[in-house]
Amino acid sequence: MQQTPVESELRVLNPATGECIGTAPIHGRDEVEVAVERARAAQSEWSEIPTEERGKQIIRFRNAVRDNAEELMEAITRENGKTLHESLLMEVLGTTDLITWFARRAHKLLKRKFLSIHFYPTRRSYLQYVPRGVVGIISPWNFPFAIPIGQTVMALLAGNAVVLKPSEFTPLIALESKRLFEESGLPPDLFQIVTGDGSTGEALTSSDVNQIVFTGSVATGRKVAATCAERLIPCTLELGGKAPAIVLEDADIRRTAGALLWGAFSNAGQACASVERVYAHESIHDELVAEIKARTEALRQGDPNSEVDVGSMIHSAQLENVERLIASAIQDGASVICGGERADGDGEFFPPTVLDHVKPDSDIMKKEIFGPVMPIATFTEESDAIRMANDSTLGLLAYVFTRNRSKGRRIAEQIEAGTVMVNDVLCTFALPETPWHGIKDSGLGIVHSAEGLKQLCELRHIHYERIRPLKEELWWYPYTKKRLELFKRIYRWLYSWIYR
Ligand code: NDP
Repeated sequence: MQQTPVESELRVLNPATGECIGTAPIHGRDEVEVAVERARAAQSEWSEIPTEERGKQIIRFRNAVRDNAEELMEAITRENGKTLHESLLMEVLGTTDLITWFARRAHKLLKRKFLSIHFYPTRRSYLQYVPRGVVGIISPWNFPFAIPIGQTVMALLAGNAVVLKPSEFTPLIALESKRLFEESGLPPDLFQIVTGDGSTGEALTSSDVNQIVFTGSVATGRKVAATCAERLIPCTLELGGKAPAIVLEDADIRRTAGALLWGAFSNAGQACASVERVYAHESIHDELVAEIKARTEALRQGDPNSEVDVGSMIHSAQLENVERLIASAIQDGASVICGGERADGDGEFFPPTVLDHVKPDSDIMKKEIFGPVMPIATFTEESDAIRMANDSTLGLLAYVFTRNRSKGRRIAEQIEAGTVMVNDVLCTFALPETPWHGIKDSGLGIVHSAEGLKQLCELRHIHYERIRPLKEELWWYPYTKKRLELFKRIYRWLYSWIYR
């Protein structure tokens, strides 16, 4: 790993150059507890503010992000190695839009919901969405702004305070976001950042927080879930992905190849939603591979601040994982269409790589690659493609390519994933209306969408009589034979006549 703690500090490196660009403290258990206490004190006042007003205050932070967009983009690229293009589109623009969307709507999405009671028309219920308190957010390095800041803003709009633990590889952009938050005039203690490594994340999970929103690997997610279970607090887990892309015989080859390239290589392939395995119908396989090869060879990789398509990966351990998986795929019979070997020189660069004739049971089709690699296999029967797509412990994103929209949806409905896109890749993360969530080992709970906002609240249910209540209810004491007979008659009458 590149970032090695020096005494009590993280040294943060620019992955594209290897240069040290800053330091951040490693916060221990005591400091985490103080941060949670401060956040809790600030939250009690914040939760009293009407949600619409909270939205107006959060728009001030949105404005600070907008006014500092250039600096933010550059800082993200410096710390993470993605291209400036990706820092703008995938991080800053998407997050600015998400903040705007939720800040303007949170009060409507969280308003009381009334329920009419079919069994008892004189009664009413309503649901209230009450802030949970302090939400601990633990985030990875691959989208160091979009993931934690989007989740932070949603938690704040729901009336919570936030303590964020960014990845040890990307703490600086989180600290910069906190600076903008304070400059916007928002209560400084409401949003706390604790920097450090896994031990800081562990300290946050076992602190006095009321909910954890964790994004990261399945292995760490299990540990976080176990600690939350011990404390009986809710946790949202956004974990790994192994997105399959099924390319049907009637797919538009040009669009499909373009989408697959962007899906496999953007962010240097380090997205939980990356295209990680392609299943191409054998009738279009050769044409598709030729198109993918030509386009991949035309991609430019290098200094992410210059006009390139693919930036750097994050650190050497990620590259080694990619190399291991490629080597084992080749051993299993895969052929390298382009790329395949680490580039010479400084920086964590791995070239966009296409592997063909990959065995469906090769490790590279099973384990998360998290690098710019597109392994391709073929199928003849649609049912085989669906079976192979579902043959994974993960279920985050999946993709289907076809000119036939209804067939695309029919296949999409058979794939075990939180989100299935037809003829496109990745981009629903940037659509605040839509849920982002994994099934199977890809996670628990939802971020984004109205449902994601509600999951940052306690659901409270109030039930009452709309007219003056009777002195007694029939089902109260005493239990008598007469009443039992009456209930038997009511039961028969209800389910033989009324609700037949
Ligand atoms: P990790 O699981 O290694 O780390 C995620 C976060 O957890 C980091 O902040 C890490 O700190 C922290 N952490 C490490 N150990 C513990 C612990 N014991 N208790 C609490 N927190 C801990 O994941 P990566 O950062 O490597 O991220 C890559 C993974 O994230 C991939 O599997 C990817 O698919 C997944 N991911 C999922 C997304 C989704 O939406 N489903 C989106 C993006 C990524 P530190 O880094 O300092 O060690």
